[in-house]
Amino acid sequence: MQQQTPRTASLPVRYLQVTAVRRLSPHLVRVTFGGPDLAGFRLDAPDQQVKLYFPRPGRDAPRLPEPPADGDLMRWYQAFQAIPEDERPWMRSYTVRAHHPGDDTIDIDFVLHGTDTTSGPATRWARTAAPGDTLGMFGPSAYFARPVPLGTADWTLLAGDETALPAIGTLAEWLPAGARAVAYIEVAEVADEQPLDTRADLTVRWLHRDQRAAGPGELLVEAVRAARFPAAGSVFAWLAGEAGAVRALRRHLVEDRGLAKRDIDFTGYWRRSLSQDDAPTEEDLAEARERLADAR
Ligand SMILES: Cc1cc2nc3c(=O)[nH]c(=O)nc-3n(C[C@H](O)[C@H](O)[C@H](O)COP(=O)(O)OP(=O)(O)OC[C@H]3O[C@@H](n4cnc5c(N)ncnc54)[C@H](O)[C@@H]3O)c2cc1C
Repeated sequence: MQQQTPRTASLPVRYLQVTAVRRLSPHLVRVTFGGPDLAGFRLDAPDQQVKLYFPRPGRDAPRLPEPPADGDLMRWYQAFQAIPEDERPWMRSYTVRAHHPGDDTIDIDFVLHGTDTTSGPATRWARTAAPGDTLGMFGPSAYFARPVPLGTADWTLLAGDETALPAIGTLAEWLPAGARAVAYIEVAEVADEQPLDTRADLTVRWLHRDQRAAGPGELLVEAVRAARFPAAGSVFAWLAGEAGAVRALRRHLVEDRGLAKRDIDFTGYWRRSLSQDDAPTEEDLAEARERLADAR
């Protein structure tokens, strides 16, 4: 395996080595990563996304540019884009499910979607991940951190599919004691459910696609539409999953339930028939602009 040296530059670019792999359920695998670059790693908030870099075939580790000493992200990204395409690592977004400061390791949960021929490079990698394998990681970073205002509303709605389950797991753990919350989580089958730790007054409603041969997000949208919201008090909603379903959920909350857009945190995590390498659609761009406007 190619030897990696610890990185100390100000950009959070790291190499990670797999230390353990555990199948959580039929469609979820937990990969634990360690290595010298994780020394001093901190996780200060829930819902922390990272970019993972997967090596091209024939390489032991992804090829990444050295972070510039001044920490200039744009220059680093331009150097990344300048890597010839057949060597440039695939980049995909994931969530840090847990940090274990005792041994400087982190867990990332990968959904195993599709088949060997239809799934993308991240899922193909996760299917065969083994101790010693190396990935690159950028983040967590203020560049894409949006603090989630947990526990500030009278009632919190969390809704997502299995790709959002790692983030929902961290949100459940960070919800303050006594906070009232409901999570709607759509998974492929009953066996993909998992316990969520929380101090909050959290009700979890699991939705199983196999019970109705439903398409991605269908049950989630249906369940939230049918949900009983509290008659009074403020509501905060956090939504993630298949982009079309997230869009439908957000529209429902704004148009039918009267939520203010600023009280909804939403992210399309994946797009039907499109990979994360494909260009953003007009709808993706419009939503990115709205998110930027909300962040100002
Ligand atoms: C902020 C953020 C955090 C995320 N956190 C996680 C996480 O912690 N764990 C996790 O597993 N995922 C997470 N995701 C989703 C993950 O990035 C996507 O599912 C990604 O497309 C997987 O990459 P891939 O290489 O397997 O597939 P791609 O190459 O991107 O896509 C290949 C094909 O697979 C389809 N596809 C992609 N994802 C799914 C899916 N879930 N179900 C069915 N079909 C799919 C696409 O439509 C496409 O046709 C997150 C996404 C974002 C934006």
